[in-house]
Amino acid sequence: MPHTPVRDFMTSEVASVTIDTPLSEVARKMRDERLSCLLVMSDGTPQGIVTERDLTRLAANLLSGEAAGSLDDLMTSNLITFHEDEDCDDAVGVLHKHRIRRLVVVNDEGKTCGLITRADLLKGHSCKIERQRDGLEQRVRERTKELEALNSKLTELTITDPLLGVGNRRAMDQALEELYERTRRYKRPYSLALVDVDHFKLYNDHYGHQKGDEVLISIATTIKNTIRVTDSVYRFGGEEFLVLFPEVGAQGGMMAAEHIRQAIENLNIEHIHARRGFVTSSFGVAEENIKNPDQLHTISVADQALYAAKENGRNRVEKMPEADSPALKNAG
Ligand code: GH3
Ligand code: MG
Ligand code: MG
Repeated sequence: MPHTPVRDFMTSEVASVTIDTPLSEVARKMRDERLSCLLVMSDGTPQGIVTERDLTRLAANLLSGEAAGSLDDLMTSNLITFHEDEDCDDAVGVLHKHRIRRLVVVNDEGKTCGLITRADLLKGHSCKIERQRDGLEQRVRERTKELEALNSKLTELTITDPLLGVGNRRAMDQALEELYERTRRYKRPYSLALVDVDHFKLYNDHYGHQKGDEVLISIATTIKNTIRVTDSVYRFGGEEFLVLFPEVGAQGGMMAAEHIRQAIENLNIEHIHARRGFVTSSFGVAEENIKNPDQLHTISVADQALYAAKENGRNRVEKMPEADSPALKNAG
């Protein structure tokens, strides 16, 4: 529960009189200043309190011919004080217990610093409830934010290859589906490249699987850093990647793939069993058929181009010759 100190809700300007003030002056002051009570002070400390109720009693006495008496007789002494730092709800308890309507509020030095009434305490209690509600709402907001972050992290994990940190097959399928829809509906082109690390089995055999993993991580990172932000890379399987180039045809795809090939070559990772002495990769590029899109077919065209790249000496980029491209044949 939030703390609501009485200090925040009390009336700090409390009218007072000294103990030797004549009753007539006390009554006049309360009437003229429309006071419901007055503190009676002696040497700076409260001795008692005079309330409207006391004045009514005084009036009744006077009307019955009784003597007025002194302020000392009229006031309620044995004041119950309450520290300014204490909570409003505790003050309510004290009021109930003593069947009184107000409490004199004191500070650390025991000096009077205000008066608190039932009405003030009611405000304090409402404020406490409001603060509590705000606190709860804030916590709900925070928890919701945490859950959202966790959720997107989980989603991220389900579509990311844990070793290489690039999209997995599921992410690839989603991306291909989106591109396919755009091609089908809006006739937007895209091309893709299949990337396969050359002689990687020999690399593993010679340098060990662990080193092989490190090479794959370097290659994945290099591809990510080389492509445009609108392009994307996925682990196709084993030491193979699929790169998507939205909005570009085969020519653009070939250029982008060549750029990646060069970047992998520039890593200059030693591979003594490769013809060139360092790790290289081969690429097969294919362009989606705008008139008759078919992602699986496009991938198989890229695969055939990749096969050609391997056949033609590796460390190169190939696309299916246009005349042989089944995608183009289908279009015709
Ligand atoms: P090519 O140039 O014809 O592609 O020859 P290659 O040796 O790369 O082809 P092959 O398909 O025979 O071998 C692929 C190798 O990739 C075999 C497999 O152990 C390795 N490989 C696949 N996934 C991983 C992996 O996550 N980590 C490591 N270290 N090696 C992997
Ligand atoms: Mg392979
Ligand atoms: Mg390979």
